[in-house]
Amino acid sequence: MKIHTLDLLFQNIERTIAAYLLEGPDGWVLIETGPMSTLPTLRERIRQYAVKTTDIKHVLVTHIHLDHAGAAGWWAQQGATVYVHHVGAPHLIDPAKLWRSAGRIYGEQMEILWGEIVPAPADRVVPLDDGDEVAAAGLTLIAHDTPGHAWHHHVFQIGDVAFSGDAAGVRLAPDKWISLPAPPPEFDLQAWRKTIARLKALHVEKLYLTHFGEVHNVPDHFQQFGDLLENATGLVREQMEAGADRERIIDVYKQWNRERALDGGLPAGDFAQRYEAPNPLFMSVDGIMRYWRKKLENRTI
Ligand SMILES: [Zn+2]
Repeated sequence: MKIHTLDLLFQNIERTIAAYLLEGPDGWVLIETGPMSTLPTLRERIRQYAVKTTDIKHVLVTHIHLDHAGAAGWWAQQGATVYVHHVGAPHLIDPAKLWRSAGRIYGEQMEILWGEIVPAPADRVVPLDDGDEVAAAGLTLIAHDTPGHAWHHHVFQIGDVAFSGDAAGVRLAPDKWISLPAPPPEFDLQAWRKTIARLKALHVEKLYLTHFGEVHNVPDHFQQFGDLLENATGLVREQMEAGADRERIIDVYKQWNRERALDGGLPAGDFAQRYEAPNPLFMSVDGIMRYWRKKLENRTI
């Protein structure tokens, strides 16, 4: 198997959203489609490998967020089979709710960022459960249920590599720095802790992150990411307990990330532009605040 990393040049910024084109013994598989706004770039990238759109019969998406699966409906309309978490499957077939939900985060930026969304024909969508195996192009991909970022998230494993979607965080390789994608309404700290333990136990050699590229030192990555998960959520919780409002918490969170980025050797401009594009910091503050509010209301902490 060969793995080709396709840079979708999201918002004309390099290395923020990837799709992966797999060359199997019997054909081609696409993992992640990116949004509709980058579909022309994706098709151009695929053509560079002398692959036609109709050659791609199998498309897998880690979850249904628009930066990962916004163009999945289009691929299904071309006749590809789209494999997706069973919780996400209905929302590819009827994407109105998915579009509205993203609209709550991105407001008037929706079209600029994501383009549009088109429905997938139901007979082209295969819902996956935890542990399901997908046989495609002579390859076998195992779906691992990996909540935390979203309840409809799978990591796909092939042998000693895994395509981690957002479950291993946002790290624009070759950077060593990691950012936490914790969007509302589904971010869940406890679920994500279990997901990290589960992913560690796969003992894969390499991770392929959608944002962005290959990670080689997998145990080190999960160590760093696990710390980040605790520290970021701890910071937001402290601020909430101190009575800070949303705007104030966003300021504090941004400043904390700026300092982390500087410590991690990341140029300031890079941090503001490249990391904000696929994962705006205000979004994670909203996701983490919502998580803590729900926990406090239910008195489960
Ligand atoms: Zn996502």
